[in-house]
Amino acid sequence: MRYSGFQVIKQVLTGHRGWIPAWRDPEPKAHYDIVIIGGGGHGLATAHYLAKVYGHRKVAVIEKGWIGGGNVGRNTTIIRSNYLLDGNEPFYEFSLKLWEGLEQDLNYNAMVSQRGILNLIHSDAQRDAYTRRGNAMILNGADAELLDAEQVRKECPFLNFDDARFPIKGGLAQRRGGTVRHDAVAWGYARSADGYGVDIIQNCEVSGFRIEDGKCLGVETSKGFIGAGKVGCAVAGNSGRVMGMAGMKLPIESHVLQAFVSEGLKPVLPGVITFGAGHFYVSQSDKGGLVFGGDLDGYNTYAQRGNLPVVEDVCEGGMALMPMIGRARLLRMWGGVMDMSMDGSPIIDRTPVDGLYFNGGWCYGGFKATPASGYCFAHLLAQDEPHPTATAYRLDRFRTGRMIDEKGVGNQPNLH
Ligand SMILES: Cc1cc2nc3c(=O)[nH]c(=O)nc-3n(C[C@H](O)[C@H](O)[C@H](O)COP(=O)(O)OP(=O)(O)OC[C@H]3O[C@@H](n4cnc5c(N)ncnc54)[C@H](O)[C@@H]3O)c2cc1C
Repeated sequence: MRYSGFQVIKQVLTGHRGWIPAWRDPEPKAHYDIVIIGGGGHGLATAHYLAKVYGHRKVAVIEKGWIGGGNVGRNTTIIRSNYLLDGNEPFYEFSLKLWEGLEQDLNYNAMVSQRGILNLIHSDAQRDAYTRRGNAMILNGADAELLDAEQVRKECPFLNFDDARFPIKGGLAQRRGGTVRHDAVAWGYARSADGYGVDIIQNCEVSGFRIEDGKCLGVETSKGFIGAGKVGCAVAGNSGRVMGMAGMKLPIESHVLQAFVSEGLKPVLPGVITFGAGHFYVSQSDKGGLVFGGDLDGYNTYAQRGNLPVVEDVCEGGMALMPMIGRARLLRMWGGVMDMSMDGSPIIDRTPVDGLYFNGGWCYGGFKATPASGYCFAHLLAQDEPHPTATAYRLDRFRTGRMIDEKGVGNQPNLH
């Protein structure tokens, strides 16, 4: 069914009896050309592009829970392409361009809102670093704008400009950045992939791989064995656990990250704002809630809930940046499991097992990457070679030392 204004009017006039489920609920078939493990944003986007761009229709997405129950529905919804390094910036800019056409591509309202992102500057050294980053963005075809303190004050007069420790000296703005309604991204990709004939199999957990003579023949699941010509793994925070079943130890640790939402307020924030002196990022949802987050909890875990010390730390960051936030009541909070790679950058690559492919290591930043990650993983699965914008995301970079260390903090996943 195509969604349109005309369709809405027709359904209103016929008592809303004509809507059909957005995707089917099929039983798994015995064999598929390609099986994708993980029905998060990345797995579903991979299925969509495999079908739409590369013509693969005998595809299944296997999800242990429900669509949108993982990080794709738990993140703080920020999209941007404000990266520095060559391996990253073209990839994230490709992703931002895909976001810009996503709703037309999917025929689904994902509430893509390019309300802009502003990274605040608090020292001269930080201005140098952000100037360099902005130049790298512009050289890669992205937009970037360096603002002085007065320009920031005009746009965000409520910020704490004269804080003794962290005065605001300017900001790096990317006007095309913004937010997207996170779970609608999962639903939109699921609906589109299903429309091309992809089977989305929920409540089906992968419990092992059938590997013979170094080749992956399919996956063992709670609904029985499912054969596959190729298997792609896109399970985000569960990457270490699932790839461990294929005998692989990844350069990835799993950490919990929390998100927070305040009660609904009248519009106050023009876009996304990040605090450059602490770790705090905030935007305002269309319902009015302030949506914000900060650091990882800092310990390894697969639990999707966090601890109170980080709640305090994040709220302190918010208070330092915009003291009026102290008068808003916190409404909801939750956690998600992050697949933190050792250099803070992702992996989209083949594995040493023939027919088994891996997508992961997205750290805090995988939501904005969803369209490009799905596109590039689909390209790899369909053509057996990396997409031109994802050639740097190789698994062996941790062996050869060709790290993509965007933050320059080395192999410390809790710092990326
Ligand atoms: C609190 C929080 C805030 C964030 N904020 C941002 C942000 O503002 N911007 C940004 O770009 N990124 C952000 N991120 C990161 C981003 O959400 C993730 O990097 C991204 O969503 C991960 O990819 P995914 O959507 O495919 O993951 P998921 O949605 O987690 O998908 C993985 C799926 O695999 C399934 N799975 C796991 N094991 C198995 C198995 N054995 N069998 C079958 N299925 C399995 C899981 O159930 C899950 O549904 C944030 C994350 C969190 C938690």
